Amino acid sequence: MYSIPTHSQLLEDAGFRIIRAVAIPSGDPSLYVFRFSVEARGGIKASVQITVQDDEVKSIEGLPPMYTFTDGKIVLTDTVPAPVKKKAMALQRISSQVSASALDQKFKEAAEVVKKAFDLGTAKLYMGKEKPRRYIGASHIGNDCIAYNSLCARGFPNDIETPRQTRIFQNGHTLEDFVVAQLKAGGLNISEVAEDGKQHEYTALGGHVVCHLDGIITGEKGFKAVLEVKSMNKKRFENFVLQGVALSDPHYYAQVQLCMYLSGMQYAVFVCYCKDNSDFSAEIVPYNKDVAIGLMQRAKEALEARTLKPKKDFYCQFCFKRSACQEAKTNSINTCAQCLHASAITTGEGKRWLCDVHSTEKQGDSLACPNFIAFNNGFI
Ligand code: SF4
Ligand code: SF4
Repeated sequence: MYSIPTHSQLLEDAGFRIIRAVAIPSGDPSLYVFRFSVEARGGIKASVQITVQDDEVKSIEGLPPMYTFTDGKIVLTDTVPAPVKKKAMALQRISSQVSASALDQKFKEAAEVVKKAFDLGTAKLYMGKEKPRRYIGASHIGNDCIAYNSLCARGFPNDIETPRQTRIFQNGHTLEDFVVAQLKAGGLNISEVAEDGKQHEYTALGGHVVCHLDGIITGEKGFKAVLEVKSMNKKRFENFVLQGVALSDPHYYAQVQLCMYLSGMQYAVFVCYCKDNSDFSAEIVPYNKDVAIGLMQRAKEALEARTLKPKKDFYCQFCFKRSACQEAKTNSINTCAQCLHASAITTGEGKRWLCDVHSTEKQGDSLACPNFIAFNNGFI
């Protein structure tokens, strides 16, 4: 029987919701064509055309892709469960709506506001909070430029970081804490602070050379080691795993060697965390006296220098003291440590300086007098 209800049943049996149905005259009394607007599972809409000839369904066209007509029935062909499919389709719909919206200028402007707020937040929370360090730190000593180490020892300003660079540094600190917490939970005996509640600190050459440790690991039979934690991107991490820290990151190798020299420990545990995939690795680094003595010699030369000794090479472009070195940039308030008349006192403690003009000892943060000449002035 050629009627719409007869053939709409075929669709309803397959779970379609009929929205609209029309019979289209074919001109041939034995041939009938019905067209249905339907909604299939997952909200998919389709226009299905059923052709009937001599009381028999000859073809069904326009079924959604996951349906087929077989053995006189419309059946689902895909094996994905309907709820999953529905969810995927709903997500697809949302995604297409969102991408259409994303093209809207208003939304682009709103996204810019969010981006600016992030940079502003970084600037407010972290940037310019730390005064430039006025010592040669273990993390600096890997730089073989004497000028760089002199500028660090004297507390010349760093170049201003971008918010992104600041976030990279902050992220590094956060990840160090994250790693140490897990090492401790995993059973390692780690002390992160000394008895005074501050980071373990060791100094030399009158306090002008300083190291701060991420922690001290203690083990059986009095074993003690410097703990150094670093986070790296995947490429660098893989290089470290392949070659070991001495070859992959000589800067970090110098850092742990100086830490061992200053602390008297014979080993360092270098733990590396991959920022890209949360992989990690560790290396036990033994103390190398020759390397450490060479680094101390470098620090001494930088402290004794009375003129800037720039090395000027390819790496200058990455140097945070570039403006102080090449453009004579100084702090907004000058102190004796930055004065050409001051020479480092490398005995005792306290990061003291000897003033040639007044023949007196000065603290590094003593405000400059009218005789002040900036160490990096470039005249001498
Ligand atoms: S800019 Fe170059 S020469 Fe100057 S301190 Fe930095 S690394 Fe040394
Ligand atoms: S000359 Fe003045 S600024 Fe320079 S070290 Fe002496 S007291 Fe300090």
